[in-house]
Amino acid sequence: MADNASFPLPAFHVVEDITSIPPLLAPARNILILGGTREAADLAALLAALGHHVTTSLAGRTREPKPVAGALRIGGFGGPDGFARHLADTPPDVLIDATHPFARTMSANARHAAERTGTPLIRLERAKWEREVGDIWIEVATLEQARDAIPPNVRVLLALGRQHIGLFALRTDVHFIIRMVDPPEAPLPFAHATLIAALPGDVEAETVLLTAERIDVIVCRNSGGRLAYAKIEAARRLGLPVIMVGR
Ligand code: NAP
Repeated sequence: MADNASFPLPAFHVVEDITSIPPLLAPARNILILGGTREAADLAALLAALGHHVTTSLAGRTREPKPVAGALRIGGFGGPDGFARHLADTPPDVLIDATHPFARTMSANARHAAERTGTPLIRLERAKWEREVGDIWIEVATLEQARDAIPPNVRVLLALGRQHIGLFALRTDVHFIIRMVDPPEAPLPFAHATLIAALPGDVEAETVLLTAERIDVIVCRNSGGRLAYAKIEAARRLGLPVIMVGR
């Protein structure tokens, strides 16, 4: 169990912005960040610069992850029990869950393991995007509903992680444009698809992409955050509908 007797933080704390975190941590501490997001990397840099001993944990989904400040460990912990064992064996002073808003299993495991080991846990969670004037959002609750909401015979920018795209293969009438950082290990299961190996661009680049690929509709999840928002702004600019999977 972590020795947090003098630690003033409540057992579980939610913040939306990395700048809220350093005042909660002073003085220097051993910090374990559950990462895989831009905010997690920014937070690691911020905390390392302030003298904290930072380790970032990644699931290992990206073949060549960008370097992060501090130490890096890669790979799952073996479920909630495995993570609790990890925390008991190498207890951080504070655990920061900075995983993606849709990485729900890891967040649930973190809550469970932190409670069991008495490790203070901060959840860094991006605010979700809110609909603005000019947005044409079709809001759905699940990926299945998103698939079924796609109109027939259209071209779709499928802005989802690779582990979430398989169920869209049933829509053999649709042409999917799929963006991936790493090329897929197996051929994509779609009847009609174009693969783009790139990171999301800024609003200008996203506008060019949507126009050049003659996209009729975007499918994405309400991830929040600045980077992925460019496609939403570009869709608003072009008057394109977005099928938005809620949290
Ligand atoms: P998930 O469904 O919540 O987690 C699945 C399993 O992956 C977890 O049970 C855990 O394995 C392992 N895992 C997840 N995050 C980990 C981390 N930071 N360090 C070590 N192990 C981790 O997560 P996911 O949706 O597959 O996302 C995986 C990673 O990609 C996360 O780090 C997340 O921040 C990042 N990411 C996700 C998305 C998304 O759309 N979901 C988008 C961008 C980035 P064990 O049970 O074996 O511990």
